[in-house]
Amino acid sequence: MKNNTSEPPGRINRRSNVINLPKETSLNTLNPSTPSVVRDKLYTSVDSMVHQMRPVMPVHCLRPATIMSTTKWFLRQFPGEVLYAVKTNPDPQVLRYIARAGVKNFDVASIVEVKQVADVLPDAKMYFMHPVKSREAIRSAYFDYGVRDFSLDSHEELNKILAVTNHAQDLNLYVRMAMTSDKAAYSLAGKFGVPLEQAASLLSATRKAADKLGLCFHVGSQCMNPDAYTHAIQTAVDLLTQNDVRLDVLDIGGGFPSIYPGLMPPALISYMKTIKKAIKSHPMLSECKIVCEPGRALVAEGGSVVVRVELRKGNMLYINDGTYGSLFDAGHPGFVYPVKAMRPEGTLSSELAEFGFFGPTCDSLDTMKGPFHLPKDIAEGDWIEIGQLGSYGATMRTNFNGFFSDTTVEVGDKPLLSIFGGVN
Ligand SMILES: *Cc1c(COP(=O)(O)O)cnc(C)c1O
Repeated sequence: MKNNTSEPPGRINRRSNVINLPKETSLNTLNPSTPSVVRDKLYTSVDSMVHQMRPVMPVHCLRPATIMSTTKWFLRQFPGEVLYAVKTNPDPQVLRYIARAGVKNFDVASIVEVKQVADVLPDAKMYFMHPVKSREAIRSAYFDYGVRDFSLDSHEELNKILAVTNHAQDLNLYVRMAMTSDKAAYSLAGKFGVPLEQAASLLSATRKAADKLGLCFHVGSQCMNPDAYTHAIQTAVDLLTQNDVRLDVLDIGGGFPSIYPGLMPPALISYMKTIKKAIKSHPMLSECKIVCEPGRALVAEGGSVVVRVELRKGNMLYINDGTYGSLFDAGHPGFVYPVKAMRPEGTLSSELAEFGFFGPTCDSLDTMKGPFHLPKDIAEGDWIEIGQLGSYGATMRTNFNGFFSDTTVEVGDKPLLSIFGGVN
């Protein structure tokens, strides 16, 4: 893997897939039904991008320096290997920055993600960590892409993997344990994981079939309490002890938080300390490889979206992105993102008021109640940067109703909000 650290983070957007727009091709003339990845240059700040582009369509902003410094911090602090959860943001540039920061392992959940990673990072090691996969996906991952690590949570899936790979002897298999997620904003309990009382036979069957045996879990996304990891690690250890199974890899999943107004977790370092302590307290884990699969915590701060206000009705703003675009989590899940209003030609009131958003589609579910704190005189034509959308932002887009923007730029300023140092 190329790990060219000599390039400064501020100038790394000159890649082969970078399209330099001719000056006269403003975003206003881009046909939204034929989206193209536009990365015309690195802007010093989001303000300066808005000033120059006056974008009619939502613009996805990446902060390469932020993505890389966050990732490097995580690599330094986590007591084991770090797998980037690709679904969080599969943008090729993001994959490159993550890799350049030093990540060599990628958690993928579909054959398309396998291909996306292989295309951009041919030397990356991939772990196929979706416990339910099609036979075609398993076959292609194993034979075409050299994937050897797979998760499962049922005998049926184990048999599928073994049948498709002709009972390969080099499989590393991870049994996904069911885990409660009462400390997380986003629960993954219920859908995945073998119930603990049914885990014994699956563990022993998997042990027999696997070259290396792993256990994995996910405490739920945006986990607000580090103790969730202590509890999960304890549960894993109890399961192994009761069943007298030898473990090679403990995968503690994702769930590491980012910071949102209204969802302020303890400092990330306290998660690391708690996890190190929990691992040390179990001698049986001393020989185990430890891995984690962070998504949100690595990239949330490294991305934002700039939207435009198309109409104001009282304290509701009709904006040009929404829950069918990159603001899915602001809808029903009710995430409140940090926001900043911009009016390049004029000034905005310094007095703030609470606003909700309506997205551009005709669906009433396309509503984001916030509250988002914005200048009280915000109006049609103003722009808003919505922060912490490097994770679960652009990746959630649909083209429902014809609203889709694939315009991505890179910016050099600091995120609106950072778990590493409070409000900017
Ligand atoms: C979504 C997911 C992750 C990433 O979770 P975050 O909460 O974003 O860190 C990791 N592992 C698996 C199996 C997932 O489904």
